[in-house]
Amino acid sequence: MSDKEPKIQVIIRKRPLNSKEISKGDIDILFKTSSNSLVVREQRLKVDLTKYIEEHNFAFDGVYNEEVNNQELYTNAVQPIVLAAFQGAKVTCFAYGQTGSGKTYTMMGEANTPGLYLLAARDIFEHRNELFPGIKVSVSFYEIYCNKLLDLLNDRNKLHVREDAKQSVNIVGLVHRPVETVQSLMSIINQGMEKRTTGQTGANDDSSRSHAVLEISLKNGKKTLGKLSFIDLAGSERGADVSNSDTKTRIDGAEINKSLLALKECIRALDQEKKHLPFRGSKLTLVLKDSFIGCCRTVMIGNVSPGLFSCEHTLNTLRYSDRVK
Ligand code: ADP
Ligand code: MG
Repeated sequence: MSDKEPKIQVIIRKRPLNSKEISKGDIDILFKTSSNSLVVREQRLKVDLTKYIEEHNFAFDGVYNEEVNNQELYTNAVQPIVLAAFQGAKVTCFAYGQTGSGKTYTMMGEANTPGLYLLAARDIFEHRNELFPGIKVSVSFYEIYCNKLLDLLNDRNKLHVREDAKQSVNIVGLVHRPVETVQSLMSIINQGMEKRTTGQTGANDDSSRSHAVLEISLKNGKKTLGKLSFIDLAGSERGADVSNSDTKTRIDGAEINKSLLALKECIRALDQEKKHLPFRGSKLTLVLKDSFIGCCRTVMIGNVSPGLFSCEHTLNTLRYSDRVK
């Protein structure tokens, strides 16, 4: 791993239009224009109600359209940094985007389409078994919900964050489960997924208000060698719930907004090689502090829905991703 490799890569992933959207008359307005650029063709109305199209062009480190599956996305954008963890890097991968844009599909995947968790786990164990048999692998999985940390591997036990004398951040009581195989790692992840926040109003509703953090640590004796973190962020549109009439939704929205803004500021500071990062801006960035300092590699995946009806949220995600760097 050379220092010339970029610390931050920002990529965009577009999902296909689904049958529900098609049946409602939604149409695809997002077009990839090169390997790293895309255009959003927003339909607008003039005062006399005639339609016109406003084009918004964006460029990133990579653009992946609906034809790209999880495996291809992994091989191209994530695999190059995964093995850096064996050389001591803190590797972090974020999925950002509105609810329904494909964050969990990307991270966890579905029945016949494993996501980044499994694809990375396979590489980690293969590499460990071949080259570093002495290295121990362990996993933690927690959720940040309403500014609280909940351990998904310990019955949603509430966790506290402490900074020690050396200013390293510790999550007191967080369960680290040792794992020896891909299968045992995935079975633990599945157990954790079942503990994710689900509200009365439907499973997707509350989990979209929390950030899920999966951490895979590589240990050499007691010393942590490297770490991989996969973060399925709260739905970015939730950050805009700040004027909602429901008090709880409004407070949640303000927290989410704060954490996503703090994340953007930290990644930006990291990219600009700044010495002081504003990681105290939110609990999310505080717990990720050691992933922002020293040797680190970060991939931010901006997930977007292709439809006209999602245009505003899609533009917000593209603008956020654009400003990260
Ligand atoms: P999020 O976690 O961002 O709220 P999900 O990952 O749950 O969104 O995706 C919403 C829906 O879209 C799911 O039904 C999922 O199967 C589908 N989906 C998302 N991304 C893709 C993709 N790249 N290809 C096919 N279907 C997808
Ligand atoms: Mg999700």
